[in-house]
Amino acid sequence: LDLGEFRRQGHMVVDFLADYYKNIEEYPVLSQVEPGYLSKCLPSSAPHDGEPMEAMLDDVRRHIVPGLTHWQSPNFFAYFQISSSTAAILGEMLCAGYNVVGLNWVSSPAATELESLVMDWLGKMLDLPRPFLFSGNGGGVIEGNTAEAIICTLTAARDRVLRRAGHDSITKLVVYGSDQTHCSFLKAARIAGIDPQNIRALKTTKSTLFGLSPDSLRKAICLDIDAGLIPLYLCATVGTTSITAVDPLAPLCKVASEFDMWVHVDAAYAGASCICPEFRKFINGIELADSFSFNAHKWLLTSLDCCCLWVKDPNAIVKSLSTDPEYLKNEASESKQVVDYKDWQVSVSRRFRALKLWLVLRSYGVHNLRNHIRIHCRLAKLFEELVGEDGRFEVVFPRNFALVCFRIRPSVATSMSNVHTVHEGDGEAWKSNEANKLNAQLLHAINTSGRVFMTHAVIGGVYVLRFAVGATLVRERHVTMAWKVVQEHANSLFGMPRS
Ligand code: PLP
Repeated sequence: LDLGEFRRQGHMVVDFLADYYKNIEEYPVLSQVEPGYLSKCLPSSAPHDGEPMEAMLDDVRRHIVPGLTHWQSPNFFAYFQISSSTAAILGEMLCAGYNVVGLNWVSSPAATELESLVMDWLGKMLDLPRPFLFSGNGGGVIEGNTAEAIICTLTAARDRVLRRAGHDSITKLVVYGSDQTHCSFLKAARIAGIDPQNIRALKTTKSTLFGLSPDSLRKAICLDIDAGLIPLYLCATVGTTSITAVDPLAPLCKVASEFDMWVHVDAAYAGASCICPEFRKFINGIELADSFSFNAHKWLLTSLDCCCLWVKDPNAIVKSLSTDPEYLKNEASESKQVVDYKDWQVSVSRRFRALKLWLVLRSYGVHNLRNHIRIHCRLAKLFEELVGEDGRFEVVFPRNFALVCFRIRPSVATSMSNVHTVHEGDGEAWKSNEANKLNAQLLHAINTSGRVFMTHAVIGGVYVLRFAVGATLVRERHVTMAWKVVQEHANSLFGMPRS
């Protein structure tokens, strides 16, 4: 580590990134490269001799940047964005620079104590009930992602039951989510050893706006108990991936508690909004759940990865995941006065992620973080209004946060061809194969233009375009431009001038 070079090259990389952000709108948002493109640009073996940073950055510019889909572009409206900020990027730099491994307290006390502190700060910002905070005998940990948060909590729930029911009962354990639950749940359940036949994805419907119905949960549980199975764990979602549906936490938790189940609440995207008092209602009932996670890396200006998990009973996780090898034995751990985060997660080693979150919370303050959420919701509302002004389109689901789900109306699609549609008693066709096809074509055309990037969802048989506002750099002009792009492609693809 040559300090002179570190300083020189470090400045060069910061300048390089600053220029990237300055010019970010010039790139096609969705990468336009073909599979396998990179092997045609780069040598097939590592260089024998070291190369200068200048040459490497030049290759990044020429060969890597074209293969990026620009998640930080203000014209990125796909999936849920991974937001970032000066504080987060520089926090990552500090993390990489110190490069400590806070696996237990003694291995880097500041890493552990800062993480516990910021998790309590953030818990208070979300108005989480005290039992989730360290100050209330619960506690928070930063995991890499939601799958890890679910693996840890599900493993704790599994072992709690197996200690009672015997280890050979593992084949009887059943876990519940809805057909809208993120696939992280499925992954986590498989890893935790749940029989794939005992992973329930309960059907949701339009009548509950695709939230999980407590009645269908109860029915499924009762059927499983009748079949000699053991209900174990419910993964409820606040802000589903497809359309930001919200599962009703309080009634679901009440059903789950009758059967002594663990309830985890996955608010990966929408959780950030709950720092605003007007959005906090979406996690009402959280006091009845066992664990809660959301991704600061999605909508809270903190770069990937930063999944914040709180549990009421950290000991349940520690019991399942703790290891005590000789080489890690130390007085602090034995005193039981400290947190050893290696026992709260899948891996043993860990990064000092709390630094970036701490910097984000401090550099913005609660007030500006709330504004950040509110501005995005206002921009989503603006887009929703623009959709509403064009009779060819409709907003398909009520908007809860900063995601708008819209489509070309089925009546417009079917007027262009004689195809079968399904009516659900509300006049306008709900499902229409022709509308689905047309909307898919529209999205394809929009995305291949490279000007904006949106993604889709199919829900209840209906294809919708998702317009998710969440980029750090997004402003009103990007939203109005995106809508223009949608209209232009609708006009040219389908010969549908605006009525
Ligand atoms: N849960 C929900 C509801 C999501 O929408 C997503 C991603 O969009 C995830 C979990 C997974 O995110 P990650 O893997 O970043 O934790």
